[in-house]
Amino acid sequence: MTDRFDVIVIGAGPAGYHAAIRCAQLGMSTACIDKSLDDAGQPVLGGTCLNWGCIPSKALLDASHKYVEATTGFADLGIRASGITMDVPAMMARKAQVVKGLTGGVAQLFQGNGVTALPGSGKLLAGRQVEYTPHAGAPRTLQADHVILAPGSVPVQIPPAPLTDGLIVDSQGALEFQSVPKRLGVIGAGVIGLELGSVWSRLGAEVVVLEALDEFLPMADERIARDALKILRGQGLDVRLGARVTGSEVRGSGDARTVEVTYQDKSGEQRVEFDRLIVAVGRRPFTNGLLAPDCGVILDERGFLHVNDHCLTDAPHVYAVGDVVRGPMLAHKAMEEGVMVAERIAGKKPLVNYDTVPAVIYTHPEIAWVGRTEQQLKASGDAYNVGTFPFSVNGRALAAHDTQGMVKVLADAETDRILGVHILGAQASELIAQAVIAMEFDASAEDLGLTMFAHPTLSEALHEAALGVAGHAIHMVNRKKRT
Ligand code: FAD
Ligand code: NAD
Repeated sequence: MTDRFDVIVIGAGPAGYHAAIRCAQLGMSTACIDKSLDDAGQPVLGGTCLNWGCIPSKALLDASHKYVEATTGFADLGIRASGITMDVPAMMARKAQVVKGLTGGVAQLFQGNGVTALPGSGKLLAGRQVEYTPHAGAPRTLQADHVILAPGSVPVQIPPAPLTDGLIVDSQGALEFQSVPKRLGVIGAGVIGLELGSVWSRLGAEVVVLEALDEFLPMADERIARDALKILRGQGLDVRLGARVTGSEVRGSGDARTVEVTYQDKSGEQRVEFDRLIVAVGRRPFTNGLLAPDCGVILDERGFLHVNDHCLTDAPHVYAVGDVVRGPMLAHKAMEEGVMVAERIAGKKPLVNYDTVPAVIYTHPEIAWVGRTEQQLKASGDAYNVGTFPFSVNGRALAAHDTQGMVKVLADAETDRILGVHILGAQASELIAQAVIAMEFDASAEDLGLTMFAHPTLSEALHEAALGVAGHAIHMVNRKKRT
């Protein structure tokens, strides 16, 4: 094997594998080093997203949602079904199959594009050299013209709740339960806490979510967050805000183990006992063993690799992309950065537009947004107009028996340029793409209003909300009386 490449990528998650494939497409000799192993101890590509993140969590969210529909929603549609049960090991086996198919697909894409996959660890040395240590074997030094660092992130652990095999788990452990816990605790009402809390709540667990902050989803639009909290509580998620976890104690032994969690809220110290506990308090950049002291890459004060707008680190020809650099820890942001860097190495001039990164929380209804929230606009003193439209009067939502939530469009008061779109509703993850495209092209709310949407579709709620910015929504009484 050659020891010299045009590009060496460290990490084969969404950031790294997109970068590697694009580099190879652009004619560069490319190697990608990744150290992940699957349950059978075999090298596996795809990083957190494919193996322990986006994909397995969505497989469980979709399965558990279908179970809820079958057990509680079908009767309203005239479908009589009885004796429906959940086979958790079968659900897990299917999830594993989905993951295997996709990670195998990345391996095929590497092969098809001529990317050299190097299973093992990578470490950046000075002068664009990379120390590659295979899973079994001695380290070798490789040389590259350009290096792309994409080592991703790992869950944050907190001293009050140290991980305890199978009992106190992180998100990875919560994707592996083989039975439904009776009482499940979740620390953190962030994206992971809500998604994985929903999965197990839908399957019958009594779920308590302990959130240190007083505010629910502070990064989302306030109105959307408030409505979402009401709906999720109505589904049985016992979300306790202002609840800061201070300790945990394991009781009993073997399968009878439980964990007592202590937390502080405004009434003082509280205790609650669970059969399992998920710690979902955020993720941190993963840089262990990645950098030789003289490699020239520096970390910022929060431990992220320091980069400029083009993802170039402080070392010449060394880039960093994905969760390990500033910005939201999202797979699609990681992918776009990977592609941008590959193309910049090839002499092209792409940019990532960080103003239009969509965010989605895959609860039901889903929560999705792009751009600025109403509270951000208020805080910055920008003048804006608002258009909203509820799914409860959208024909397709009514036909589909899925009417919770709304669409909210925020537009500049002077120029009418769309500044933010916020959706709570079924398929919000799909609908938000329309808002992203509109904002990418600097559309005004009027532009969206003048666009024809197929009928009957959920997308019409976005159309009506855009019309509502100027008071023109057809299926709502116009209180603004504007022309
Ligand atoms: P990773 O996917 O973490 O990949 C990094 C890879 O680099 C890993 O394979 C790691 O082993 C390897 N590596 C690290 N250091 C080295 C080294 N020194 N040598 C060799 N290899 C190394 N995001 C979304 O956008 N949508 C979702 O629905 C979503 N759901 C999620 C659900 C869960 C439960 C979790 C945990 C995360 C979820 N995310 C989601 C976040 C998403 O997984 C990450 O944003 C994304 O994986 C980041 O990609 P990355 O390539 O930067 O890093
Ligand atoms: P998060 O930052 O979304 O939420 C963590 C929550 O834990 C916060 O609300 C925080 O206030 C709370 N918290 C922290 N310490 C606490 C304590 N001691 N007691 C009680 N609450 C405490 O983090 P996450 O949910 O772990 O997700 C990590 C990352 O993964 C996120 O950046 C997210 O973008 C990404 N992710 C994305 C998706 C998606 O796009 N659908 C899904 C899963 C994960």
